[in-house]
Amino acid sequence: MSAASLEGGPASLDRIRRYLVGLKMPRALEALEHILRRIERGEISALEAIDALLGEELTLREGRRVKAALKMGRLLTVKTLAGFDFSFQPSLDRDRIMALAELDFVDRHEVLHFLGQPGCGKTHLALALGVEAVKTGRSVYFSTLADIVSSLAKAEREGSLRERLRFLCRPQLLIVDEIGYLPVIPGGGNLFFQLVNARYERGAMILTSNRGFSEWGDVFGGTVVATALLDRLLHHAVVVQIEGASYRLRRHAELMPENTRARSISPSAPPPARRRGRPPKEREANQDSNP
Ligand code: ADP
Ligand code: MG
Repeated sequence: MSAASLEGGPASLDRIRRYLVGLKMPRALEALEHILRRIERGEISALEAIDALLGEELTLREGRRVKAALKMGRLLTVKTLAGFDFSFQPSLDRDRIMALAELDFVDRHEVLHFLGQPGCGKTHLALALGVEAVKTGRSVYFSTLADIVSSLAKAEREGSLRERLRFLCRPQLLIVDEIGYLPVIPGGGNLFFQLVNARYERGAMILTSNRGFSEWGDVFGGTVVATALLDRLLHHAVVVQIEGASYRLRRHAELMPENTRARSISPSAPPPARRRGRPPKEREANQDSNP
C-alpha cells in the first residue's frame, strides 16, 4: 500500500480527539496517534484504521465488563475449558461438554448436574461454563450450597426471605457447588426447595455433587424434601457423570484406597448400608468412600 497523506489536517484531527473525549472513548483516543502513523506509512487503509480504532475501545470495554460481571457473580477463580485436560477424564465426552458450552441449556432454563468423586473436575467445569456465560453477556451467580442455604436462613430470620429469593432468581445461570459434602442445616432443605421452585422453568442452574441422587435424603434432611427437589431438578435436566479419579491426587494415586481411584457416582444407586453395632471389617469399611 502506498503512503497516504492525512487529508483534512489538524482541524479534523482536533475534532476527532474532542469527539473521542466526548464519547468517553479513552482507549481509542490513546490509540489514535499510532493508528494515524500507520496510515501515513501506508500500512493500513482508512477502513482498517476505523476498524482498529473502534476495536481497541470495544476490547477495553468488554474486558472491563467481563471482569466486573465475574466479580459480581462471585466467579472468583477463573477456570477455562481450554485449561481442562480431557485426556485425564476419558469417561467425559469432550464434544458433549463443548456442546454444553454453547449454553443453549441456559436459554432453555435447564438444570445441568455434574456428578463425581471429589477432585474429578466438577467445580472446574461449572466455573468454566459460568465464565463462558459471562463472556456471552449472560448473568451468572456462583455459590456453594452451604452458603446459599445459610444466606436464605439469615434472610428468613431478618424477615427478608422474599428479597433474597428474588436476588437469587435474577441471574440467568445459578451455579450451586458442593451438594453433598455436608448435610444442610435444619430447615435448609425447605429453604433450598423454595429457591429451586422459584427458579423452576425460569432460570438455568448448574449443580455439582459427590453424592448420587438417592442419597439426597441424607443431604437435605429428609426424603420428602429431597423428592420434591429432585422432581424439579430432574425435569428438564442434563446429567453428566464423571467416572474418573481425583485430579488433585493424580500424582499420589498409590496412596489412595483402591476403590476411590476411579469410581462413578451412580445417580440412582441405593443409599450405602449403614452398619450398626459390630465395626465393619476393613475391606467393607473401604467401600464407604465419602470424603
Ligand atoms: P471437584 O469440584 O470435582 O472436587 P475441582 O474441579 O475443584 O474438583 O478440581 C480440583 C482441582 O483440579 C482444581 O484446581 C481443578 O482446576 C483441577 N482439575 C480437575 N480436573 C482437571 C482436569 N481434567 N484438567 C485440568 N485440571 C483439572
Ligand atoms: Mg468442587
